Amino acid sequence: MRWSKSYLFTLREAPADAEIPSHILMVRAGLIRKVAAGIYTYGPLALKALRKFEQIVREELNVRGCQELLMPMVQPKELWDETGRWTEMGEGLQKFKNRNGHEFCLGATHEEVITDFVRKDVKSYRDLPFNLYQIQTKYRDEIRPRFGLMRGREFLMKDAYSFDLDQEGAERSYQLMREAYQAIFTRLGARFVVVAADSGNIGGNRSEEFHILADSGEDQLLVSEDGLFAANVEVCPALLKEENRAASIDQASAQGGAPEELATPGLKTIADLAKSTGLAPEQLVKTLFFMTEAQEPICVLLRGCDEANPVKIKNALGLANPPRLLLDQEVKDLTGAWPGSCGPVGLKIPIYMDQAVERMDNYMVGANRDGFHLKGVSHRRGHFKVTQVGDLRLAQEGDPNPQGQGKLKAYRGIEVGHIFYLGSKYSQAMEAQFLGEDGQLKPIEMGCYGIGVGRSIQAVIEQNHDKDGIIWPPSVAPFHVHVCMLDPEDSQVQQWVDTLEKELFAKGHEVFVDDRAERPGVKFKDADLLGFPLRVNLGARGLGQSEVEIVERKSKEIVKVSPENLVETLLKKLGESQ
Ligand code: ATP
Ligand code: MG
Repeated sequence: MRWSKSYLFTLREAPADAEIPSHILMVRAGLIRKVAAGIYTYGPLALKALRKFEQIVREELNVRGCQELLMPMVQPKELWDETGRWTEMGEGLQKFKNRNGHEFCLGATHEEVITDFVRKDVKSYRDLPFNLYQIQTKYRDEIRPRFGLMRGREFLMKDAYSFDLDQEGAERSYQLMREAYQAIFTRLGARFVVVAADSGNIGGNRSEEFHILADSGEDQLLVSEDGLFAANVEVCPALLKEENRAASIDQASAQGGAPEELATPGLKTIADLAKSTGLAPEQLVKTLFFMTEAQEPICVLLRGCDEANPVKIKNALGLANPPRLLLDQEVKDLTGAWPGSCGPVGLKIPIYMDQAVERMDNYMVGANRDGFHLKGVSHRRGHFKVTQVGDLRLAQEGDPNPQGQGKLKAYRGIEVGHIFYLGSKYSQAMEAQFLGEDGQLKPIEMGCYGIGVGRSIQAVIEQNHDKDGIIWPPSVAPFHVHVCMLDPEDSQVQQWVDTLEKELFAKGHEVFVDDRAERPGVKFKDADLLGFPLRVNLGARGLGQSEVEIVERKSKEIVKVSPENLVETLLKKLGESQ
C-alpha cells in the first residue's frame, strides 16, 4: 500500500475532547473520526486492525465448535417484554417506533433474539448442545460516552450464546469459552487478568470479566498476592483487617441510656468529626441515602473510613440496577437536615447496615437537625431498627484476601470481555424448552459471552504506546513493515521498494510505503505515530553506501543491512516477533 494512494490523514495536534493516550493516538493516526458523541467512523487502517482481531476471535471460537450467525440490529419490543427487560434495561436501551407505531429497540445485547431463534427450532435433547455467535454492531445510549472506542454508544461486539441440556453441560460450555477468551487475548498480545464480576442486568449467577491492564482503565480490580483470587471491586468481598477483627466492641461504654444531642456547628464531613472528637474515621459511622429505581429512598450506614459499593447494595436488595445517591435537596426533604447532619435515628425508611458497623456500639451519628449530632447511639440498644446487615462497602487495596493468605493489591483494568453462566433465566421466561430423554419438558441451560471488539483494539493501544505514537502488537498491526521512501523519484529506490513489497507480501506480510514528497523528518514522525512493528529507511544515499536502516518501533533499535540482505533480515525479525 502506498501512502499517496491511500486515504490516510495524520494530525499533529491532539483532539480537544480526547483525554487518554489511546484515544488521542487513534485520532492523530487517522484511525477513527467522531461522527457524534460515542459514534465513530473506523478509517481503513482501524478497520484492518479490527478485522485481524475478529479473525483471531473467529479462529478460536470455530476451533471450539462455535458457529457464526448474524442477528438483526433492530428488535421488536414484544421479545423484550417476555423477559421484562424492556423496562428493566432503563434508558440505555434505545427505543423507537416505526411508521405504524410499532415499538422497537436497537440491539444492546441479543439474549432475547437468540432465545427466540432457538426456541423455534429446538425440540428434543438430541438437538443440543450448541454455541452460536455473531460479530455485530451494538447500540447502547450510554450516559457518558467517552475515551473514543472505549465507551461508545455504537460499538462492535462479539457475542456468543451457549445452549445445553443441563447444568453440567452448561458449566463445560462456560469453561470452554473461558479457555477461548484466554487464547484470544493471549494471541492479541495483551497483558490481561480474569476477575470475578457482577452479572449486571444480563442476569445469571456467575460471571467473570477479562480486563486488559492499564492505568486509565475505568474498573478497579483487586488481586491477591498469590494471584489465585481476582475480582472486580464491584463484587470483591470486603473483609475486616486483622487488627480490626481483634478489636472488640466497646462494651464498657455501651451501657448508656438514650442518645444525647450534641451541638456540632460546622462539622459536616467525617474528617471534621474525626478532628473534633479525636476518634479515627473507622470509629465513626456515616449515613448515606440512595434512591432505588422504584423511587424508594433507602439509608445505608458505613464506617467513616469506608465507601459504599452500589453494586453490592443492588445485589443485597435484589434490584435490577445499582441505586443512585440522593441529591442534597432530596436528603434535606427526607430527613429535615442537610447531608452531614443526618443519621438513622427516627427515620421511616429501610436502613441497610454494612457488616463492619454491625460490630460497633455507642457511636455518633447526625441528629437529622442541622448542626447537631447524637452520641451514645446503638442499634444494639434499639435506637433505630436495621432492615438488613450485609457486605455493602468497597473492598480496598490492603484488605485481606477473601480466599486465602495475604492481602489484596489494586490494579486498573479495561473490561474487554465478559462471560456469564445464565442458567435458565431466559429459557424459562421465553419458554425455550426441549423434551428430555425421560420425556420431560425442560428449559435449556444457557450461557452468554461478549467481547468488545473496538474496545479491545483501543485497549491494546492504551497498553502499548510511547510519547511518539502507537506500538502495534504484530497480531493486529494494520501493516507489518513501514517503508520510509526517502527519495521517491529515484528509480533505484523504486525498484528496491517494489521488490521488498512483493517478496514480503508473498510471505504473508503487509508493507506500507510512505512515498509522499515529504522531508525524512516528517516521514519518521508519522511512522512512529502509526506504529507498525518495523520501519525501513530506504533512500538513494543508503543504497549508494549499500546500507539500509531497519528500525524496530518498540525498542527504537536500529540495524543496518545491505539491500541484498534486507528481505531476509526483515523476515527473520517478523518471524521472531510473531
Ligand atoms: P461496561 O461495564 O463497560 O459498561 P458492560 O458490562 O455493560 O460494559 P457487557 O454487557 O458485558 O458490557 O458487554 C460485553 C463487552 O462489550 C464488554 O466486556 C465490553 O468489552 C464491550 N462493551 C460494552 N459496552 C461498551 C461500550 N459502550 N463501548 C465499547 N465496548 C463496550
Ligand atoms: Mg460486562
